[in-house]
Amino acid sequence: MGLFDRIKKAFSAEPEKETPVEQDQAIPETPVESDATPVESQTPAETAAAEKTETDEPASLATEDDSETVSPLDTPTAAPVNPEPEPEPEPEPEPEPVEASAVTEESDAIEEVPETEAVTGDMQAAETKKYDDGLEKSRLTFGQRLNALFANFRSVDEAFFDDVEEMLIEADVGYETAMKIADELRDEVKLRNVKKPEAVSQAIVEKLVDLYGQEGQAEDNQLHFAPQGELTVFLFVGVNGAGKTTSIGKFAHQLEKAGKKVLLAAGDTFRAGAIEQLQEWGRRDNVPVVASAAGSDPASVVYDAVKRAKEEQFDILLVDTAGRLQNNVNLMKELEKVKRIITREVPAAPQEVLLVLDATTGQNALVQAKQFKQTTDVTGIILTKLDGSAKGGIVLAVRTELHLPVKMVGLGEQMNDLQLFDPNRFVYGLFKDIIVGDGPQKTTDTDVSQAIK
Ligand code: GDP
Repeated sequence: MGLFDRIKKAFSAEPEKETPVEQDQAIPETPVESDATPVESQTPAETAAAEKTETDEPASLATEDDSETVSPLDTPTAAPVNPEPEPEPEPEPEPEPVEASAVTEESDAIEEVPETEAVTGDMQAAETKKYDDGLEKSRLTFGQRLNALFANFRSVDEAFFDDVEEMLIEADVGYETAMKIADELRDEVKLRNVKKPEAVSQAIVEKLVDLYGQEGQAEDNQLHFAPQGELTVFLFVGVNGAGKTTSIGKFAHQLEKAGKKVLLAAGDTFRAGAIEQLQEWGRRDNVPVVASAAGSDPASVVYDAVKRAKEEQFDILLVDTAGRLQNNVNLMKELEKVKRIITREVPAAPQEVLLVLDATTGQNALVQAKQFKQTTDVTGIILTKLDGSAKGGIVLAVRTELHLPVKMVGLGEQMNDLQLFDPNRFVYGLFKDIIVGDGPQKTTDTDVSQAIK
C-alpha cells in the first residue's frame, strides 16, 4: 500500500481520534528517555497551560504561568520518525501519548482533562489541527491550482500534461518531481481508465504522496541528542531572516519547559541586533546566553559557551550563527571553524547542524540549501513560516531533490508552533481535501475518458 492509501486510511477511519502516524513512527505509550530524544514528556494540562499563556503573544513567551512543559521534543521515542518504511502499517495505529507539542487554541478544554490517556485522541487531533492550520494557505493554493488546471479542461492530451507539469512546478514541488509525476500520470490515467477530473486530481496527488513516501524510505527525520548526562550541541545556520533566532528561542523554551538545562550562544556577532535579539529570547525563556560584543570572533564566543556548558553541566547548547550568504567563502569557512571548535571540545558534537529555511522563499530556499549542503555538513532542515506560505509543496522538493531530512517545521508564530516534523501529518495537511475526497476539485464535470490518448 502506498503512502497515499495509508494516510487516507488513517485519517478517514475516525478523523477525530485517529492518529495519522504510521505504526513505525508511533510513539511509545510510556515516555522513555533515550539517547535520541532525551526530553521528558508533559501532561496535557501542562501543555494547555503553556499554550494558554502564549496564545495572545506571538513568539513572545509567557513567564510564570507557563512553568509547565510544552515541547515538540516530547516525542519520547527512539523509533525512527520516518513514516514510510513499513509496507503494511497497522490499520489502527497505536495512539500517541503525550507528544510533540500537541496543543491547540482550545487550552481551556484541554486543561479540564487531567488524564493523559483520556485526552490522547484530543491531543492527536490537536496536533493534526496545527498542521491543518499551518498548511491552510498551501492547501488552498494547491486546490486553486488544480481548479485552474481543470477550469479550461478539454481533453487529456499532451497539452494537458504540460499544464500538469507547470502547475506542479508552480506548486513548488520541484522540477524533477513535476516531470516525474506528469510522466507517471500519463500511464496512470490510461491504466485506471480515469473518467473524471476529480479522479485525475486524485491520481496527481496520489502520485505525489507515494513518490514522497518512496523517497523517504531511508530518511531520518529525528533530532539526535547526546546520551543522558552528556552535552548536546545544535548549530543553527542559514541566511538572515530565515528564522534562526526565533527558532532557537522557541526551541529553547520548549526544552527548558521539558526540564532541560539550556544554554544559548550568540554566535552571530556581525550584528548587534542579532545578539540583542538572542539575549531577549534568553530573558523570555529564562535561559542564559553567552554573548560578546558585536564584531568579536564568533569562534571565541562559541568556545566560551561550550566551556561554560561543560563546566556547569548544561544539557543542551543552542548556537546561533551569522546569517551568511551560502556563496560567501569566508563566512562559510568561519562556520567550519565554529564547528571545529565545538567538535574539539565535545567530540560527538554538534549532534545536529540545522539549516533554517524560510518556506515563503520557495525555490530560492532550495537553491540556498543545495549550496549550504556543498560546504557544510547539514544534518537537517528547519522549515519556517509555513503558516504564511503557499509553498508547503517545498517539503516534497526538499526530500526528492535535496535528500536532506526536514526535522522541524515552523507552523505559526506561537511558541509551540515550532514542531517536530511529522511527514504524515504534513502530507495530510497539504492535500487533505483530496486525500479524504472532499476536495476543491469540483469545478467541472467534464468526462475526460473519451479524450485519453
Ligand atoms: P534570523 O535572521 O534567521 O535569525 O531570523 P529571525 O529569527 O530574526 O526571524 C525573522 C522573522 O521571521 C521574524 O519576524 C520572526 O518572527 C519570523 N518567523 C520566524 N519563524 C517563523 C514561523 O515559523 N512563522 C512565522 N509566521 N514567522 C516566523
